[in-house]
Amino acid sequence: MTATIIDGKAFAARIRAQVAEAVEKLATDHRLIPGLAVVLVGEDPASEVYVRSKGKQTVEVGMRSFEHKLAAETPEDELLALIDRLNSDDAVHGILVQLPLPGHVNAEKVINRIDPAKDVDGFHILNVGRLGTGQKAMVPCTPLGCLMMLRDHLGSLSGLEAVVVGRSNIVGKPMAQLLLGESCTVTVAHSRTRDLPEVCRRADILVAAVGRPDMIRGDWIKPGATVIDVGINRVARDGKTRLVGDVDFSSAVEVAGAITPVPGGVGPMTIACLLANTLTAACRARGLPEPQGLTV
Ligand code: NDP
Repeated sequence: MTATIIDGKAFAARIRAQVAEAVEKLATDHRLIPGLAVVLVGEDPASEVYVRSKGKQTVEVGMRSFEHKLAAETPEDELLALIDRLNSDDAVHGILVQLPLPGHVNAEKVINRIDPAKDVDGFHILNVGRLGTGQKAMVPCTPLGCLMMLRDHLGSLSGLEAVVVGRSNIVGKPMAQLLLGESCTVTVAHSRTRDLPEVCRRADILVAAVGRPDMIRGDWIKPGATVIDVGINRVARDGKTRLVGDVDFSSAVEVAGAITPVPGGVGPMTIACLLANTLTAACRARGLPEPQGLTV
């Protein structure tokens, strides 16, 4: 039996349509247009692609997009001053600083300068703390997208064994917090975990966020498990560069109950959730009801 393929591309398109509909209603009923400011420092080609894509999708759902491109050598003080201006700009409801930042800039300091209410990446220490203590937070986009797909596919997650492989602040840790919030029994595995295959075999829900191509094989997966592959790895195969996940798709698809592909799984959901977070931030800023199903 082969697994159901969870189509993140189609799901993300549904989310964007839902966001666009809510944005239109905000404009009509409240004369409110959510705005997202994206700050890019330097000329990293991958970051430029992401920023362009974010800007395009922001405009497509009817929001305002503000792009700030700064030279790689921009002093930290200048970047902090820009964040201060964006924090006090009423047209800006979400602020995202594209990572990684150049080495001379203290990324933590920059992220924590963002008004937590506008921190649509959910990386500000206050939002991390709120998520960890079960309070209303801005939730990091990638794990939020994973949770939406899991809820959509499984319904209630209560009582399920979840294993998250990876403990980064951006993906692994917030993913674990979200799954705890859904009453899963959560194990977080990492590079020092003993007998990783055996730990993975416990999982009803297996989330891979490692950054190692095809690491998780089919025989590490419990039959029928739901597998979310966050990994995006560029590999050279048959003379071409291809994107592969952290899960060996061809063996995993024979064992899992459902699986996200790479590309076309988690990736498209991340930007869709960024738009959803910007909408949520705009509604919260005005004291309006939050859109249903787009946040936790
Ligand atoms: P990090 O490099 O920050 O974290 C990787 C984690 O994997 C670490 O916790 C590390 O453990 C763990 N790890 C590394 N090697 C092993 C191993 N052999 N066995 C078990 N665990 C291991 O990566 P990110 O969390 O930022 O990203 C993970 C992947 O997700 C990457 O491929 C990235 O490109 C992708 N990604 C995709 C996104 C999307 O939109 N789809 C968004 C963000 C990331 P330790 O802590 O012990 O070092």
